[in-house]
Amino acid sequence: MRVFLVIAGLSTAMWAGAADPDEIQSRLDEIARINVTQAWEQSQAMAEQLAAEMEGASAEQRAQLDLLFARNLALAGRYADALELLDPILDADLPSEQRLRAYEMAANYALNKLDYEQAFTLLRDSITLLPEIDRPAPQARLLGLAAYFHSEVGEQEMAIDYAGQALELAHDSQDAREQCIALHRLALAQFRLERFATAEATHRLQIEHCEAAGDPVLSAAAKNGIGNALLRQGRIDEALPWIRSGLQRNEEHGFRDGVLASRRFLARGLKEMGEIDQAEQILTELIAALEREQYWSNLHECLVLLTNIADARGNPAQALAFYREAEAARSKHLERERAMRLAYLRVEFDTRIKEQELALLREQNRVMQLEEDARSQQSLLYMGGTVSLGIIGLLLLLLLFRTQSERRRFRKLSEYDGLTGLYNHTQFFAKANAAFDESRERGCPFTLIIADIDYFKNINDHHDHLFGDQVLRIVSARLLEVFGKAGVVGRIGGEEFGIALPGKTCDEACDQIELFRRIASVVRADDNAAEVTLSFGVAQMDDRDAGDPSLEKLRRRADHALYGAKATGRNRVVVASESHVE
Ligand code: GH3
Ligand code: MG
Ligand code: MG
Repeated sequence: MRVFLVIAGLSTAMWAGAADPDEIQSRLDEIARINVTQAWEQSQAMAEQLAAEMEGASAEQRAQLDLLFARNLALAGRYADALELLDPILDADLPSEQRLRAYEMAANYALNKLDYEQAFTLLRDSITLLPEIDRPAPQARLLGLAAYFHSEVGEQEMAIDYAGQALELAHDSQDAREQCIALHRLALAQFRLERFATAEATHRLQIEHCEAAGDPVLSAAAKNGIGNALLRQGRIDEALPWIRSGLQRNEEHGFRDGVLASRRFLARGLKEMGEIDQAEQILTELIAALEREQYWSNLHECLVLLTNIADARGNPAQALAFYREAEAARSKHLERERAMRLAYLRVEFDTRIKEQELALLREQNRVMQLEEDARSQQSLLYMGGTVSLGIIGLLLLLLLFRTQSERRRFRKLSEYDGLTGLYNHTQFFAKANAAFDESRERGCPFTLIIADIDYFKNINDHHDHLFGDQVLRIVSARLLEVFGKAGVVGRIGGEEFGIALPGKTCDEACDQIELFRRIASVVRADDNAAEVTLSFGVAQMDDRDAGDPSLEKLRRRADHALYGAKATGRNRVVVASESHVE
C-alpha cells in the first residue's frame, strides 16, 4: 500500500501539479462511486493518481481518500494493512461522521482479521460517537454493524433487535444502500436462528435495495443469501441460479470472500444435485483457500461434504481422512467461537465494569463532597466550640484565679491584722490553741506571753494617732523578728500582743523577752521619736496541773502576771507563779 503511494507520489511529482480543493472533491466523489459500482482495482488506480495531487486538499479529503484505500485493501483481503491505514483517522480532528465510518470499517476488518477483542472494542468505542451523529444513514450503518457482531458471537436475538433499529433508520434515510445493508444484517441473524424461509424473504427484499443502490458486491451477497437459504430449505433447483449469479458478480468485482462463499454454496448445491465430480473439484480447491484464511467453520462444512462424497464413492479410507480433517476444523472453529465469545464478554463486561466504576466514582465523589461539607461544618462547629470552650475555660480560669486571690485576700483579712500584719485575735488563739494541744500531746513545754505597751494613750496623746499606728507597726515587726521563728505572734487588742511559744519553757521565754527588750526601745517615725516600753505577763503550761489544762486558763494566768507587771511599775516581766493557778 505504502509502496503504491510512494511510487504514485514520485511519478506524479515529476509532472503533476496540485489540484484545487473543489476539483479534488469532485474527483473523490467520482472515485467513491466507481469504488462501489466497479471492481476495486479501477477506483484504486484513480485514487492513486489523485493521491499525488492532494497538496491543496483538506484533512477531510485526505481522510476520505484513505478510507477508500482502506476499503480496497479489505476487499483484497489485506485487513491488517487496512486497519493500519484507518488507525490515525479514528482519533483525528475530523467530522464525527467520518470518524464513525473509520471506526465501523476498522471494527469490521478487525473481526475479519479474527482479532475479536479489537473488533468489539472498536464497536463499543464507535457507539460512543453515535450521539454526535445527526443523519440517520450513518446511525443505521453503525447499528447494522452491531447487529452483525452480535450475530457472529451467537447473540442472534440481540442481532435481530439491532438490525431492526438499523432498518428503521435506513428507511428514514431513504438511502437504498443503507436499507440493503440493514436487511443483509437482519437476514444473517434470521438464517443463524435457522429461520431459513424468513431469511430468504429478507434477502429478496434486500436485493431490490441493493440493485437500486447499484452496489454489485452487496447484490451478490444478497443473491448468495437467497441461494443458501433455499439450499437449506431443500429447494436446490431454485438455489443454484441465485448462487451462480452471485458468484459471477463477486468474481467480476474481485470480492474474494464473496467468491469463496458463492463457491461453497455452489459445491453444496451441486453435491445435493448428485454432481459430485464438479462438487468435489470446487471443494478441493476451496479447502486450500479456506485453510489459508483460517475460515474454520466454512472449512468444516466443505470437509463434511468431501467426506460424504468419498463415502458415496465407496472410499471409506478417504472418507475417514476427510472426517478427521473436518473434526479438526470444527474444533478450531469452536475454539475461535469461544475466543470470540470471551472477547465479546470481556469487552461487554469491561463496559459494564466501567459503567459500574463510573457510577461508583460518581457516588464516591458525591459522598466525598458530602463528607467534605460535613467536615467543614463540623470543623466550623468544632472551631466555634473550641473557641467558646477556650473562652469559657479562660474566663473560668480567670474567675478561679480571682476567686482564689479574693479568697486569699479575705482569708488574710480575716486572719491577719490589717495594721500590723500579725495574726488577729481570733487567728492567734486558734493557732495558739493548736500549738498548745500539740505540745501537750508531745509532752513538750508551752509558754504564753501577753505583752502590752505601757502608757500608749500618752503616746497617742503626745504625738498623734498616725504616729501611734507607726509605733504599733514597728513594735509588731520587732516582736515577729524575735519570737516569730519559733512561736506564734498576734495582736490581741489595741496595743496588746499575744506570743505563744510551743516547746519553750518559761525561762527560755524570759530570755527571749530580754533579747527583745535589748533592742533599742526608742521608736522613730515621721520626724517623731518616742521611748516605748512594754509590760509582759508570762505563763508556762504546767504538767502537774491536775485538772484539764487549757489555753484559757494559761491566758488568765498570763493576764494576771501582766496585771502584776503593770501594777508594779510597768516595763517589766512577771512570770505567773503556782499561786496564780486558780
Ligand atoms: P497602760 O500602761 O496601763 O496600758 O496605759 P495605756 O495608756 O497603754 O492603756 P489604755 O488602756 O489606757 O489606753 C490604750 C490606748 O491605746 C487607748 C487607745 O486610744 C489606744 N489605741 C488602741 N488601739 C489603737 C490604734 O490602733 N492606734 C492608735 N494610735 N491608738 C490605739
Ligand atoms: Mg497599754
Ligand atoms: Mg492595754
